[in-house]
Amino acid sequence: MARKELTLDELVTGVRAGDRRALARAISLVEDGDQLAYGLVRELYPGTGRAAIVGVTGPPGVGKSSLVGALVRLVRERGQTVGVVSVDPSSPFSRGALLGDRIRLADHFLDPGVFIRSMGTRGHLGGLAESTLQAVLLLDAAGKDVVFVETVGAGQSEVEVTGIADTVLLVLMPGSGDSVQALKAGIMEIPDVIAVNKLDHPAAKTMLNEVRSIVALAEPEQRPTILLTEALRGEGVPELLAAIEEHRSALFADGRLEARRRRNLAAEVFALASSRASAHLRAAVADDPELLRVLQSVENRELDPLSAVRRILEEVFRIDADAR
Ligand code: GDP
Repeated sequence: MARKELTLDELVTGVRAGDRRALARAISLVEDGDQLAYGLVRELYPGTGRAAIVGVTGPPGVGKSSLVGALVRLVRERGQTVGVVSVDPSSPFSRGALLGDRIRLADHFLDPGVFIRSMGTRGHLGGLAESTLQAVLLLDAAGKDVVFVETVGAGQSEVEVTGIADTVLLVLMPGSGDSVQALKAGIMEIPDVIAVNKLDHPAAKTMLNEVRSIVALAEPEQRPTILLTEALRGEGVPELLAAIEEHRSALFADGRLEARRRRNLAAEVFALASSRASAHLRAAVADDPELLRVLQSVENRELDPLSAVRRILEEVFRIDADAR
């Protein structure tokens, strides 16, 4: 039996009421880059900003999903509602498909107070970063008290949770040496909280000390709280949730949360606009034999690179490079 498509009004009302079907549909529209999704988020945006947004990042296999699952359980025990956006740029699947090990979150699938959504690459113009931001806004508008955004990250990833989250949690485990080096070298931004997971592993304490010694080099106000956890047995998880919440309350208390959110939103807009402009540029050049010839003439050393840049910008964006 064909189901009737929801109208924009029905979607707005449904998402505001936290209705699961409306939310699921809304996020699919966002992923498809559907026009209806723009209208929807535009309507709902003024009502966002209530949810506590927690970004969870770290290399694959460290236990991010398991930890999020354990954190969700604690948040639910207090009666608060939760949204989870699980981002996996390597996966072509989406629409709520369980990505790899994310089956760990399955315990919560039947709980009406939890909405979980996996996002893979879909290939519309705005890309994954854009749909992730929109999905988070929808969950916020739907009244979720806490929204976890889980992404694979070992420094520079396609979707940086730093730009969306009130609190960034980095998850490491014994053996995450590359991430520790990235932190040390300043390639990876210092997170707000670090969980060294798999404390049952014999090398966990060594890893903890290593992370501590690196973080000690940071400015005092930038130093994250570092904790040992064991996601599977829930050990250290209440302390982890407390650290996440303390971080946010401390920011809120002296106005830094508001400042951070303003900065994040402005930076997100800039990043998304840049990414769209760049996608547009690539597509325009690929479709235009004249512009491809311009590139070729650079390759053949007939035209210098900056002259080519000017020609392309003029053609694609009508930007007069000399008028800057
Ligand atoms: P993710 O890729 O970072 O999301 O990691 P997962 O949550 O999928 O976990 C990766 C693997 O590590 C799974 O097989 C988990 O069962 C296991 N795991 C997660 N947390 C722990 C832990 O605290 N101790 C141990 N020994 N294994 C864990």
